[in-house]
Amino acid sequence: SAEEDCGADESTDSRGNNNVKVMVRLKPIDAPEKQYNVAVVALDESTVEFPNNDTSPGSTNGVQGESPSRSFHFDYVFGTNSTQDDVYDFVAEEMLDQFFTGYNSTILAYGQTGSGKSYTMFGPIDNRGLIPRICHEIFERIGLLKSSADIEYVVSVSFLEIYLEKVYDLLGESINKSASPKKTSEKRTSLTIHESSTFGVYVQSATVISVSDGDELLHCIHLGESQRCKSSTDMNFESSRSHAIVKINLLKRDNLEGSIQKSDLFLVDLAGSEKVSKTNAVGATLEEAKKINLSLSSLGNVINALTQKDKKRTHIPYRDSQLTRLLRDSLGGNSKTTLILNCACDKSNEAETLTTLRFGSRAKQIENKAIVNRS
Ligand code: ADP
Ligand code: MG
Repeated sequence: SAEEDCGADESTDSRGNNNVKVMVRLKPIDAPEKQYNVAVVALDESTVEFPNNDTSPGSTNGVQGESPSRSFHFDYVFGTNSTQDDVYDFVAEEMLDQFFTGYNSTILAYGQTGSGKSYTMFGPIDNRGLIPRICHEIFERIGLLKSSADIEYVVSVSFLEIYLEKVYDLLGESINKSASPKKTSEKRTSLTIHESSTFGVYVQSATVISVSDGDELLHCIHLGESQRCKSSTDMNFESSRSHAIVKINLLKRDNLEGSIQKSDLFLVDLAGSEKVSKTNAVGATLEEAKKINLSLSSLGNVINALTQKDKKRTHIPYRDSQLTRLLRDSLGGNSKTTLILNCACDKSNEAETLTTLRFGSRAKQIENKAIVNRS
């Protein structure tokens, strides 16, 4: 077979755990000189392919010696023409339905630096990504749902960052920002994640801000982002090496029924997935360089364990990293998780793109429904 069928599992027609979805978003090639150097294409709405277009000298342009084309299958593939609207409609609408019925949800953007993670999650002002749209939609929905005076919704937000396996509060400084502007030299204090049987997972002394409309919610997130940028000027800090985690909590109080429903929505712009060496992590020791990708590899292991068909035998290794500890109650189980694999399509990024797709298919193996043109 000429196909590296990464998703094949002939034993069952189950698509695995539907609470975890893995999707791909291909970033359009911007530089005109790279237009003819495409390494990866969307074949259909669930397949990406590395076409066999190796025309380098030495590769026979015939049957033998030809490098095989490789394809990967996922829950959905957003091609280079996909818009922010497309991604929102497909990823967020259903997730918000779940969020409002009390399910925890997580959306994660994974990929090398420059592949479009922040574009997908935050987006530019004139072409907003998932987070700003979700912020406004939450309050749109509350407006529509609050027909009865007995039903009350409370929305709150926290914004955390994980860098070198330490958790930082991005909203802490914003509260008394006007009073004392942050000094960039100031050492940041890290926070501790607790796992309690009564309260679930919580981060000790993380700032939680209650907000009453979409603009206010987005304003808090922008303040948090600015804290992140400031830190990136710190010589010991690279923002592409940190995970940015927005947590939105929805509390619905039904005073007539006397019931309370709570759910968390995590929106995560992950650290760049490219390998770090000791030398390109500024000032990092070898131990630190190892830590940088720990949360990412643990995330892959957790998603993999969650999507194993025989769930009883599978231990879910949540405790292996700070990211997976933090997301424990919002990955798998009754939670809805979407992992978006962001990929750059040009040849110069081919190796990293392949690594990203392999991460995704290791995380969730999806059956190849119909293999066409297999001879
Ligand atoms: P990352 O956060 O993964 O490092 P960015 O989101 O910052 O990458 O994207 C890198 C650059 O590519 C930015 O200039 C961004 O505007 C642009 N970009 C990313 N995705 C798209 C897209 N789907 N369409 C157009 N431009 C994009
Ligand atoms: Mg980014």
